[in-house]
Amino acid sequence: MQFVDLKLSPPIQKALAEMGYQTPSAIQEKAIPPVLAGRDLFGCAQTGTGKTCAFAAPILQRLGTDRGGKRPPIRALVLTPTRELALQIYENFVQYGKYLPLRCAVIFGGVSQNPQVEKLQRGVDILVATPGRLNDLIGQGYISLKKVEIFVLDEGDRMLDMGFIHDVRRVVAQLPQERQTLLFSATLPPEIEKLARTILKNPLKVSV
Ligand code: AMP
Repeated sequence: MQFVDLKLSPPIQKALAEMGYQTPSAIQEKAIPPVLAGRDLFGCAQTGTGKTCAFAAPILQRLGTDRGGKRPPIRALVLTPTRELALQIYENFVQYGKYLPLRCAVIFGGVSQNPQVEKLQRGVDILVATPGRLNDLIGQGYISLKKVEIFVLDEGDRMLDMGFIHDVRRVVAQLPQERQTLLFSATLPPEIEKLARTILKNPLKVSV
């Protein structure tokens, strides 16, 4: 199996090839086609399996080109529990999307919000965020999630372990009902299954 078989577009294939990716990993083979087709996905995969590319590449392709204008709305939101993960995911979006005219930003707590707010105000298509800072900036009116088309909840089990369930639910309440949702979790405790039932619609379950 090659990336071309997964129907990834030439700009994305070119970026992946430049990063030295030759063949898709198991989670990428299983997740990329349904995500490209617009399906909700419940992925059981750990960090290190290539799961970031499994969601980032098809999201970039689905968003295609940005809609231009002075301040485009946020069209994809990725929620992840830690600053380190947020930065890694953001960097991957930037790398895989280097030949696409889409704008990415990352926000997390523990640092000044001003540079983050300035970037948001210039317009962002894809936002990677940790839950606390996201809710802060929503509360201050800097972020609207009304136009989000694709929502990713990454590391769902860690999110719960770290006590972010209320923050996650607050975010979900701001999202449009009509959207594509992807949930990734390394383990599947009952609370994750419960969360999955409330945020996913007819999901395809994949595990590696
Ligand atoms: P992740 O599980 O998303 O954190 O990815 C783990 C590491 O594998 C990252 O350093 C990725 O850049 C790398 N990676 C992801 N997919 C592939 C692939 N298909 N081929 C080679 N490396 C990859």
